[in-house]
Amino acid sequence: MMWYDYIGWIAGCALIFFSIAFVMTSVLEKEARAVFMGLIVLVPLCFVWFLLLTQLYVYRAEILGLGIVGIVLFGLILFVPFGKKGSLQIVRPLERLDERDIIFARMRYQENSEAYNDYYRRHPELKTTDDKVRRMPTLYEPGSENYHVINSPVPQACFDFLEDIRGTTEAPPHAENRDIDPERMSLRLKGLAKYYGGRDAGIAVLNEGHTYTHVGRGQGKYGDVVKLDHKFALVFTVEMDRFMVRQAPSLTVYVESANQYVKAATIAISIAYYIRSLGFSARAHIDGNYRIIVPPVAVDAGLGEIGRIGLLMTPNLGPRVRLGAVTTDMPLVPDKPISFGALDFCEACTKCAENCPSGAIPQGDKKIVRGVEKWFVNQEACYTYWRKSGTDCGVCMNVCPYSKPNTFVHNSVRYAAQHSVVARRGAKWADDFFYGRFPKSNKKPEWLIS
Ligand code: SF4
Ligand code: SF4
Repeated sequence: MMWYDYIGWIAGCALIFFSIAFVMTSVLEKEARAVFMGLIVLVPLCFVWFLLLTQLYVYRAEILGLGIVGIVLFGLILFVPFGKKGSLQIVRPLERLDERDIIFARMRYQENSEAYNDYYRRHPELKTTDDKVRRMPTLYEPGSENYHVINSPVPQACFDFLEDIRGTTEAPPHAENRDIDPERMSLRLKGLAKYYGGRDAGIAVLNEGHTYTHVGRGQGKYGDVVKLDHKFALVFTVEMDRFMVRQAPSLTVYVESANQYVKAATIAISIAYYIRSLGFSARAHIDGNYRIIVPPVAVDAGLGEIGRIGLLMTPNLGPRVRLGAVTTDMPLVPDKPISFGALDFCEACTKCAENCPSGAIPQGDKKIVRGVEKWFVNQEACYTYWRKSGTDCGVCMNVCPYSKPNTFVHNSVRYAAQHSVVARRGAKWADDFFYGRFPKSNKKPEWLIS
């Protein structure tokens, strides 16, 4: 055998290995289209390559040599750093956000209550549309598309629980300050967050733009000025179950969101208790009870980037995460923001926008939003669809190519996409080809079927 025979056989075995891995992964993930496409594309490809290896006698060196050079070049283009990844652009001083303005706060103002009268006196232009949404069934009431008399209370019970524990998010330190080593304590807190069930964790230095100006919901009184004297934030992600998200926009997504918000709250509150026991101030930020805007803090903590979808995109799970945070005056060592190509990927990919049932995600360019250049997601349109469907939707999270499970095949693609613009464009095309431009959901878990 000649050198090109050896390399040819190695390349053939690698092709077979990757093809089997892809098809098996797709079978396990119950991705019927990916299995089908994998079989009709990869099997003939393997067959042709092995036919060349075993049956080609004329110009064998030239043809095999060319094939091998092509494979090597293709590998280099995919994995060697190439092209701009894009980065967050702050174009003017950050403007702070008033929590009273966000849709989740506005929907809590009961008609003719003090908060309601105050808010719509200052924002009469929002009253008619907000009243219309307010009068729609809530996510767990009869009348929405996915309402189920037995299943809809499942997520609601979790959110009721979160309401009941919100008093535990804040408290004074339990003891005198202990001497701590900031570097070791930072590692300890991030490790604890992961040990308790978080997926990734990071630390950010808080700035003014991270905190709300006024209280709109959660602990405290509507309209109170937000005072948070903490310098650092520990932020962590919790993973949303891929199978549950895959059913978007059904009730399973709402069940899973509620489950992960409870998990994030448990982690945050436990760590806040721990920090206070060492004599430092700490506040847990949990669903419905935030003083900070967690996604930009997560960006500064090095957990990911904000993509077209308007959510935090992480390198390993894309937007398929929920966030939790603990702020503190304990001295810690911050992490640095990362850039892994998601912004560049989103420039060319509009899959979330095309699949969004409410049209809330823009298909066009970024805008300047409170001093930051980013894609502006219409939270009113999104939330109105939630009320109509009786779930928190999750279609965008489901279809995002970065949301794929944490497996060898998907991680290889993510690794290549981190490094090369060619891999990013190729991955976008391959995702549409193997999984479909408008992927449909598969089966619900048996235990949720009535
Ligand atoms: S959750 Fe649904 S409605 Fe909201 S932005 Fe995502 S796809 Fe659109
Ligand atoms: S679906 Fe595409 S455009 Fe949307 S967030 Fe994911 S990668 Fe970005």
